[in-house]
Amino acid sequence: MADKTELIGLDKDELQKALTAIGEKPFRAKQLWQWLYYFGETDFDKMTNLSKNLRQKLKENFTITRPKIITEQLSSDKTRKWLLEFADGERVEMVYIPEEDRGAVCISTQVGCAVGCKFCHTGSQKLTRNLSAAEIVSQFMVARDTYGEWPSPTQETRYLSNIVVMGMGEPLHNRENVIKALNIITDGDGIAISRRRVTLSTSGIAPHIVSTLQATGVRLAVSLHAPNDNLRSTIMPINRRYSIDEVLSACREYQAGDGSRYITFEYLLLDGINDSAECAQQLIALMKKYGLRASFNLIPFNPWPGSAFKPSSNSKVRAFAKILADAGFAAPIRVARGQDILAACGQLKSANKQ
Ligand code: SAH
Ligand code: SF4
Repeated sequence: MADKTELIGLDKDELQKALTAIGEKPFRAKQLWQWLYYFGETDFDKMTNLSKNLRQKLKENFTITRPKIITEQLSSDKTRKWLLEFADGERVEMVYIPEEDRGAVCISTQVGCAVGCKFCHTGSQKLTRNLSAAEIVSQFMVARDTYGEWPSPTQETRYLSNIVVMGMGEPLHNRENVIKALNIITDGDGIAISRRRVTLSTSGIAPHIVSTLQATGVRLAVSLHAPNDNLRSTIMPINRRYSIDEVLSACREYQAGDGSRYITFEYLLLDGINDSAECAQQLIALMKKYGLRASFNLIPFNPWPGSAFKPSSNSKVRAFAKILADAGFAAPIRVARGQDILAACGQLKSANKQ
């Protein structure tokens, strides 16, 4: 018997083709899309507006798969972390960070990461493989399953309101699948997360920034973490490949012609490394040099077992923030969430592999 086709991760055209290939009319794709992504249905038998015959045919030809939940942990601050396993046994982590009446799901794009930033737990593990579009989309669907957010609630009433592509992996090293997945997740007939509520974070793979952001329409965050090439190369070896100039030139191109595009620069504060007043001044000079409309997200370093850095003191972090704010840049200090379950930024690692 031929292998069944997985439906999650197909775009609208592919879904239509899959249906015509089994002799069905293309308009069925619309109904099926709704079942998959609006109702979140995983059981063909419950797709009640389809005939019994068709349901049987679908079952014989297709699958609807979610990754397996290996563990699910709830932090004292209500941050939730899932360890998910895919069909081949590879695992990634996903995190939900709740605010008052909404929240962001932090999704992964790769198992491990090839970028190898010195401060990052994921980066301490080599790249195993890219996630498929299906695996990226179905992660978020697991979060919706957990919180019972099916059918897709209205924008105002949904708890899982935002997505940050800031989990494990470098999204611009897996562009094709990331673009496809984000276009499925933001499609208005299904999961319908607004593109403006999705943020893609990259370590700065300069040649692909503009095209990927154009293909998805989501927001851009760039992990800068240092204001000059010497320093950045020591903590982010990728900087030897794509310099600050290349990254910020791409950012400038991304903003050209669209005044609504703001960029968030993530800046991790490492004690005694990149947290001086001089670093803050250099950052401001960089923003001016490239004419960028930007805000900063100051991230206190989140330690993980065996990490070589220490977080900057609170007073250092506040002083750094003040210099940026005085120069007119929004520079909120990110509160670390879920630290008790190692769910904070940069702490994710595909643990427990058998
Ligand atoms: N690969 C992408 C997205 C995933 S990392 C990127 O690097 O942007 C998401 C964010 O977490 C990045 O800004 C990253 O630099 C930051 N980060 C990594 N390790 C961290 C740590 N130990 N503490 C705090 N933030 C960390
Ligand atoms: Fe990869 Fe991002 Fe971690 Fe760097 S910070 S190693 S790019 S996941």
